[in-house]
Amino acid sequence: MNVLNRIQKVEKLKSIFGVHIQRLRGRRGSELGWMVILRDITADWEMDRLRKEFIAKITHELHSPLTVISEGIALVLEEKTGGINEDQKRCLSYAKQNVKRMERLIDNLLRITRLELRDAELERRRSVDLRMLARQMAESYSPLMQAKQIRFVQQLPDQDLRVQADRDRLTQVFANLLDNALKYTPVQGLIELGCKSEGSKVFCWVRDTGPGVPEEEQEKIFQKFYRVKNAENQEKRGHGLGLAIAREIVQSYGGKIWVESQLGEGSTFLFYLPLIDPEVR
Ligand code: ADP
Repeated sequence: MNVLNRIQKVEKLKSIFGVHIQRLRGRRGSELGWMVILRDITADWEMDRLRKEFIAKITHELHSPLTVISEGIALVLEEKTGGINEDQKRCLSYAKQNVKRMERLIDNLLRITRLELRDAELERRRSVDLRMLARQMAESYSPLMQAKQIRFVQQLPDQDLRVQADRDRLTQVFANLLDNALKYTPVQGLIELGCKSEGSKVFCWVRDTGPGVPEEEQEKIFQKFYRVKNAENQEKRGHGLGLAIAREIVQSYGGKIWVESQLGEGSTFLFYLPLIDPEVR
């Protein structure tokens, strides 16, 4: 190890430090020793936590009135409160679509703020078989793929691939990747869902024949609210939260997620998670 950067909580001091450790070498490579920098980041950390809590609260507050609006619109639209004419129906359908979009945004915001705050109450870690989960995801996405005439193939191994995680959260990761593949791949394209074990890790991937992601944006698309600005993307709806959520989840289990892609040649989104050691299952 030559460089280490980490954040460390020191309970006794009630403080949080940014720790930077670097090996120092002389001109001819001789070892001079180590440089250690400790930076007290407690105030910044606390501000960041308060900001996230604030967003989580606001988002939660927005959720309830939106449900009431949505149900109200549905009641009138389904003519349960009396007949309405075609113009009124059109107006309300438009309102309904937009409320749905807002509901999706708020759900995603709730998810990401909870993940960022490491909401332990929501966490139910168990042994989950990723191969089985991938198979179930494939089953539920098959009709959507068929509807868009997309060839949907699976590359799944024979043996189970167990990781320690919350099943709902891993479902979310697969769903976000498959939703994107489906959204960005043109009609009659190809999407592949795969998993395999390698060493002490399970690798999963979603490959597509969509537009691809430019190299300089491959890291940025995992940031909150980031969307690639190109003509194809303008017409696709989204808020730029799906991949940020997937990354938070994968990292919270000690894994990593990234994309390999070339513009115009499709994309492969991959993630890995630590395998449960079969000896301790
Ligand atoms: P959203 O799809 O709602 O915009 P995401 O966080 O899921 O948000 O994705 C961020 C951006 O990454 C997208 O706006 C798109 O530009 C790009 N992207 C994601 N998945 C794909 C894909 N399969 N093919 C091409 N671009 C993608």
